[in-house]
Amino acid sequence: MLIIRQITTMLFLLVSIFGYSESLQTTLSDTTPGPKVYQRTLKLMGSRFDLTVVAENQEKGNEYIDLAISEISRIEKLISSWDPLSQTSAINRNAGLKPIKVDPELFQLIERALKISNLIQGAFDISYASMDRIWKFDGSVTEMPPKETIKQSVAKVGYQNIILDRGKQTVFLKNKGMKIGFGAIGKGYAADKAKALLVEQGVKSGIINASGDLNAWGTQPNGKDWMVAIVNPLNKSKVFSWLPVKNQSVVTSGNYEKYIVLNGERYSHIIDPRTGYPSKGILSATIFTKNAELADALATSIFVMGVETGLDFINQLKGVECIIVDLDNKVITSKNIALKEIEKQTR
Ligand code: ADP
Ligand code: MG
Repeated sequence: MLIIRQITTMLFLLVSIFGYSESLQTTLSDTTPGPKVYQRTLKLMGSRFDLTVVAENQEKGNEYIDLAISEISRIEKLISSWDPLSQTSAINRNAGLKPIKVDPELFQLIERALKISNLIQGAFDISYASMDRIWKFDGSVTEMPPKETIKQSVAKVGYQNIILDRGKQTVFLKNKGMKIGFGAIGKGYAADKAKALLVEQGVKSGIINASGDLNAWGTQPNGKDWMVAIVNPLNKSKVFSWLPVKNQSVVTSGNYEKYIVLNGERYSHIIDPRTGYPSKGILSATIFTKNAELADALATSIFVMGVETGLDFINQLKGVECIIVDLDNKVITSKNIALKEIEKQTR
C-alpha cells in the first residue's frame, strides 16, 4: 500500500535538506557568480525553523535570514500566550474583567480565526486554550481526567464569547477563566509574514519552514521548483515521492510527537472544543493552499472534524487540497489530488 508520510519533521526536513545540499555544493566549491541557496536552522516560537533564501551572495543571504528571524520573533512577542508581556497574555489576564486594546495586526488575526470558527461550527477555536490546564502533552497525564473537570473546563471555551470591537480595536473575553492561544495558526501566520517581508525586500525565492508548516516561493537557482518529500510513514527514511511546491504552502498536523495514550487509545494534542476531549482517528492531515495561516488552521480543524466531514469540507473549498492519513495508515486525498498524479511527479 502506498503511504504518504506526515511531515511535521520529515516532509519538512526533507525540504530543507534539499535546499541545503544545493547550498553546500554551491557555497563550498562553486565560485561561479549568480544566486545561491542560503539556509539557517534555529529555534523560534518553541519550534524548529528552517529558513532558506536564494540570494546573490553570503552577505545578502545572511541579511535576509536575519530579517526573517526578527519578523518571526516580533510575531512571537505579540501572540505568545506564554510570554506574560504579550498583548495576548493581557487579553487572557483580563478575561471577564475588561476589553484590551491591541495592535491592528493581532486584532485582525483574531478576526480571521473567528471567521474560521464560524465556518466550521467551532471545530477550530482559539479559546480551546483554557483546556491547556487539563490536557498536558508532557507525559504528566496518565489517566483520563474526571468528567466533571472536563465539563468545567469546556464551559470556558467558546469563540462566541470572544468579543471584538472594531472601532476601538479591543478584544474582550467575556467569561472569567477564558483563554486564547495561537498554537494552531501561529506558525503558519509567522511563515506568511516572514515570506511577505522577504518578498517585499526583493527576495525572489525561498522557503520558510516552521516544523513542517512551510511556505515556499520562487524556484531554486537552477530554475527548478522547490520539492517537498512525501515519505512512507512505515519507513520514514524512504521517500515515496516528491511534489513540486509552486508559490504555495504545505502544512501538516500530525499525531506523531504530541499525543497521550489512555486505555490503549492514542489521543492527539488537538482538542475538540465542543466536547473537551482530544481528537482521535487521524494520524496526519496535510493541507496545500496559498497561505500558511489558513493551511495551519485547516490542518488542525480536520483532526476535530474527522476524516469524512474534513474531506467533505476541503472538497468544497476552492484552491485547497488535503492528504489525510488515518490510524490504519490509509491515505485519503481530496478531489484534485490523485495518488497517481503524485506518483507521476516522482523524481
Ligand atoms: P502542530 O503543528 O504543532 O502539530 P497544530 O497546528 O496542529 O500544531 O495545532 C495544534 C495546537 O493547536 C495544539 O497544541 C493547541 O495548542 C492548539 N489547539 C488544540 N486544539 C485546538 C482547536 N480545536 N482549535 C484551535 N487550536 C487548537
Ligand atoms: Mg494547525
